Amino acid sequence: MPHVLVLNASYEPLGVISMRRALILVLNHKAVSLEDSEFTLHSATSAITAPSVVRLTRFVRVPFCGPVPLTRRALFARDHGRCVYCGAAATSVDHVIPRSRGGQHRWDNVVAACRRCNHTKADRHLTELGWRMKRPPAPPSGLAWRIIGTGIRDPRWRPYLEPYGGVEQFREYEHYDHPEHSGRSHPVQNGHPVQVVHHPIHRGEQPEALSA
Ligand SMILES: [Zn+2]
Repeated sequence: MPHVLVLNASYEPLGVISMRRALILVLNHKAVSLEDSEFTLHSATSAITAPSVVRLTRFVRVPFCGPVPLTRRALFARDHGRCVYCGAAATSVDHVIPRSRGGQHRWDNVVAACRRCNHTKADRHLTELGWRMKRPPAPPSGLAWRIIGTGIRDPRWRPYLEPYGGVEQFREYEHYDHPEHSGRSHPVQNGHPVQVVHHPIHRGEQPEALSA
């Protein structure tokens, strides 16, 4: 079943819900559809185009101070699906300071790695191997990560998420996007550009294709 991106009344990304739940919100006037999906749902008497992006009609207060949940999907997205040691396609999660030597399962101690590097590194510190990383691992920031971390993707969501961080990851989407969806950079509603706040992005470069 396809998923729908939910935005707050303020256009902040809130999460991903099922199409069925999104339709119920729209039919109850709790949300409005901003983007259609390619799906049409039929009842006995009518047909309705299912949404791909909805916006709540009332602002909900959500405590956004917590860190981005550390999941395998979110980690692979942060590290571009590449092994941080050699750049090969990542297939595993590595603890930079091995757990057996007190390393914790935290954003600043986990990286995506290929099987070979993970195996070679085993229970050793980087200094013992003479290995280096381009930059120390850090937690991702930006509201868009709540969506990116789910691993659910839809190129139509990109313009709505782009202002909230994770821009590199969405650029990577373009390798897979349909051409008709990749040209727009700002959401438009009823012909008027939506008010979006552009936060400066302080993240690295290296847009590479996600292999996962
Ligand atoms: Zn590697």
